[in-house]
Amino acid sequence: MSTLDLEQNNSPLTVAKFGGTSVADFQAMLRCAHIIKKDTSNRLVVVSASAGVTNYLVRLSQENISIQEQKDIIANIRTIQLNITQHLAADVEQALNSEIEVLLEQLSSHALIQSQQYSVKQVDAILSFGEQFSSRVFAQVLQSIDVNGAYFNVQQVMKTNSLYGKAVVDIEQLSKACTAFLAPKLSQQVIVTQGFIGQDGLGETTTLGRGGSDYSAALLAEALNASDLAIWTDVVGIFTTDPRITEQARAIKEISFGEAAEMATFGAKILHPATLIPAMRHNIPVFVGSSKEPEKGGTQIKQSVASNPTYRSIALRREQTLVTVKSPAMLHASGFLAKVFGILAKHELSVDLITTSEISVALTFDNPSGSTQALLTSTVVQELEQLCEVTVEHGLSLVAVIGNGLDCAKGIGQSIFQAINDINIRLICHGASANNLCFLVSEKDANHVVEKLHSELFV
Ligand code: ADP
Ligand code: ASP
Ligand code: MG
Repeated sequence: MSTLDLEQNNSPLTVAKFGGTSVADFQAMLRCAHIIKKDTSNRLVVVSASAGVTNYLVRLSQENISIQEQKDIIANIRTIQLNITQHLAADVEQALNSEIEVLLEQLSSHALIQSQQYSVKQVDAILSFGEQFSSRVFAQVLQSIDVNGAYFNVQQVMKTNSLYGKAVVDIEQLSKACTAFLAPKLSQQVIVTQGFIGQDGLGETTTLGRGGSDYSAALLAEALNASDLAIWTDVVGIFTTDPRITEQARAIKEISFGEAAEMATFGAKILHPATLIPAMRHNIPVFVGSSKEPEKGGTQIKQSVASNPTYRSIALRREQTLVTVKSPAMLHASGFLAKVFGILAKHELSVDLITTSEISVALTFDNPSGSTQALLTSTVVQELEQLCEVTVEHGLSLVAVIGNGLDCAKGIGQSIFQAINDINIRLICHGASANNLCFLVSEKDANHVVEKLHSELFV
């Protein structure tokens, strides 16, 4: 078995993150293990749950689920794990399967309670299991190809507040704990740990939000002063738009932190929106590539790049809600907007885009799986209605054109809107940022808009 040389302590450290499809089954895990083996700077591995497992766990934590469906889900999760472990040596398989059964028991004790409405704390405990399985299994897959892989519980270092479902990481504590508990191990072994999960001050499990493993990996890279972060996924890098929307999308070789961060913020699922914040803080270059086709290379994200084109990419964020507040009292009056935002802040609703006219203001909210909708239809709307007329529209998508100098380049509006002049556009934001121009369209038009715009701007 090859043990990493102790002298590598000061050698380059790459944090490698593998997403759900990359660790979906044994073959996929094996490909990732070979990626790790090929480059000895890969000394910390952050894994997501195997594809589909977190979605199963989300279903498990919902209220309207029968005990039978819960049992079926737990059986399906067991099958996903055992289909991987069966490819390992018999003794390893047996030991790992025992650990998996212990975890499944714990999961069942959290989940198998009929018609219970789970607290956000219980939901996080349930959602955390996917990464707990995959990290244990992946460490053994590494061992199977003679890489000295070892499991590490990220909760020892990833300390967060108690905002279950979107916990905020204590960066200072993370840095201290990494120096104390994690860094010393990296000189001897390839450490495999969990993305997405953390632990609050009460010792309870927290999660960082869906897709949060990218962010976990970036935070760990920052805390460990890593030389690189590699995000291994199911596409050969960052594309000019989501390749699932148009076959004409093409991979980008090099992109700046700022541009990639805009893409992530405006919905490009390839990176969790917060991923690049730690990387930018510590100037850690980020690579994005496909674990299926590592030989094809990928995208390098770094501080500055050779070219800064006007148009870099198009991002799409679905499930947007538009709220229009209207009141003649706004005309030449002061303090109206402060009251509106006061109400929104009280309910912890975060506004994305804003446009205003003399007596009305339009605001957009990200509304994944109806969460904002629930709030806006009840208390918040009633409170806003004390001040003004309120209209709420759902079923919208936000299209963002990302690039450089978009606030001052000539002809931008014409190129973009001429291409989609058959579409009803609900709101346009331009001028606040040099790096994006964005607008809302109906959900049903969204793919068509991206396709048409892409062929106008990139082909
Ligand atoms: P992982 O499980 O590895 O984290 P995700 O499914 O979260 O992977 O992200 C990868 C997916 O992101 C791709 O399969 C692709 O459909 C989608 N995606 C959205 N926008 C882009 C883009 N601009 N470039 C590449 N992929 C994108
Ligand atoms: N497993 C989590 C999710 O599916 C986190 C991640 O994959 O990044 O959202
Ligand atoms: Mg992801």
